[in-house]
Amino acid sequence: MNYMSEHDFQPPAPFRVFCNRTLNMRAIQAIGFDMDYTLVHYDVPEWEARAYAHVQQRLLHKGHPVGHLRFDPGLFSRGLVIDLELGNILKANRFGYVVKAAHGTQVLAHDEQRKVYSQVWIDLGEPRWVFLNTLFSLSEACLYSQMVELLDAGKLGEIGYGALYDLVKTTMDAAHLEGELKAEVIADPERFVDVDANLPRALLDLKQAGKRLFLATNSEWHYTKPMMEFTFDRFLGKGAWEQLFELTIVQSRKPSFFDNASPFFGIDASGSVVDGKHALRAGGRYRGGNARLVQEYLGCGGESILYVGDHMYADVHVSSRIRRWRTALVLRELETEIAHEQAFAQRQQELMELMRQKERLDREQAQLRLCLQRAERHQPLPEGLPQSMRPGAHGLQPIHERLRELRQAGEHLDHTISPLAKLAGEIGHPRWGPLMRAGNDKSQLARQIETHADLYMSRVSNLLHLTPFGYLRAGRGALPHDPTR
Ligand code: IMP
Ligand code: MG
Repeated sequence: MNYMSEHDFQPPAPFRVFCNRTLNMRAIQAIGFDMDYTLVHYDVPEWEARAYAHVQQRLLHKGHPVGHLRFDPGLFSRGLVIDLELGNILKANRFGYVVKAAHGTQVLAHDEQRKVYSQVWIDLGEPRWVFLNTLFSLSEACLYSQMVELLDAGKLGEIGYGALYDLVKTTMDAAHLEGELKAEVIADPERFVDVDANLPRALLDLKQAGKRLFLATNSEWHYTKPMMEFTFDRFLGKGAWEQLFELTIVQSRKPSFFDNASPFFGIDASGSVVDGKHALRAGGRYRGGNARLVQEYLGCGGESILYVGDHMYADVHVSSRIRRWRTALVLRELETEIAHEQAFAQRQQELMELMRQKERLDREQAQLRLCLQRAERHQPLPEGLPQSMRPGAHGLQPIHERLRELRQAGEHLDHTISPLAKLAGEIGHPRWGPLMRAGNDKSQLARQIETHADLYMSRVSNLLHLTPFGYLRAGRGALPHDPTR
């Protein structure tokens, strides 16, 4: 019997679920979902422009000269790091070495960046660094970088780069917490929310397969309810989204949700607390709480709970490290980035071939230089040296000539490589390049993802193609000594 179907049931790459750590969906008993930028996706320029504007107003009221600043959603991208000591925003590779830097809004010249950071290694556990974990970070980073320029121009008084960040962050926190910003979104969700018609089906399939779904969001009930209604009502009927979830948990205070012992409070349809410190029950609606109680209620081990969120640290890093839940990161930017990568694929092949040529050339140059060094000392020449290069009637002349040829060929190759490499470095983001790459290496974000996210995907509805029965196997993982390299 031929087991191979003529279909491979593989959706186009932007709609796949990518796997770092093997995961069998059949072994997953419960799936938790974050809401903002996970189940409910926002139009980033719209949402973040309003967050930015609210923070700007608050800063203006405090007397800071920020009235002329404008939000630019393209200035920074998720996965970059703020350096609170120097007021810079950085991209780092998987080892934490800086590969690109901006001071304020301006990208630093390569020499300048090398001078400042060649001896620096970013350890995200140190207070000097702030990781841009989510799309919510884009408005914050934009405003911070613009205010760094105001600070440098002497317009913010005696304040350091670290204290400036605290000012932006606490003002941003207040804007998120104190109603007005979210009231605007609630009043006109059409403008802010990007509805995904495949999402309800994906969740229904999971639920009908027996997975126990729960919602755990940091948002308040008064915001969660209209956002979920806007996202699901048109597909499922009025208010039916709540029936998808066995538990609905708001104001969960992630990341501490994953390691604190806060009690759950039952709330009613208006968000008022009805039960103090109540035990969880199916169909319940809660505020606060903690992940250990959720797990006890579910009665299963962390290895059979999958949590899906968009915040690298609060949703994924902490849930995997502390509770050992399985994790999936939602990275919407990946969708267009993969499409760009596919469009660039042929040129990427050319670039790789050119790099292989350059490596061959570098190897030959190194051997010939070693020949010259040994010949000058009358020592035996390297064994691999071709006969034609060995010093004869013309002494070392052939070696010098070949080195000249190689230098010219190298310059020619560099001319061809550099525009292609520049284009490759602009995929996904014209300034900062692909989310998960830093030059030829993996980015620090990619490192975070492979360490803490078992899966990643551009949107939750990609689970639809995977099905509740899918088996995701981790790739073999490339190593420098692989024979195919
Ligand atoms: P979740 O992603 O569903 O857990 O919800 C994220 C919540 O955090 C939303 O209510 C956001 O308004 C809120 N939020 C996002 N960024 C910030 C911030 O920088 N400070 C305070 N709250 C934030
Ligand atoms: Mg979120």
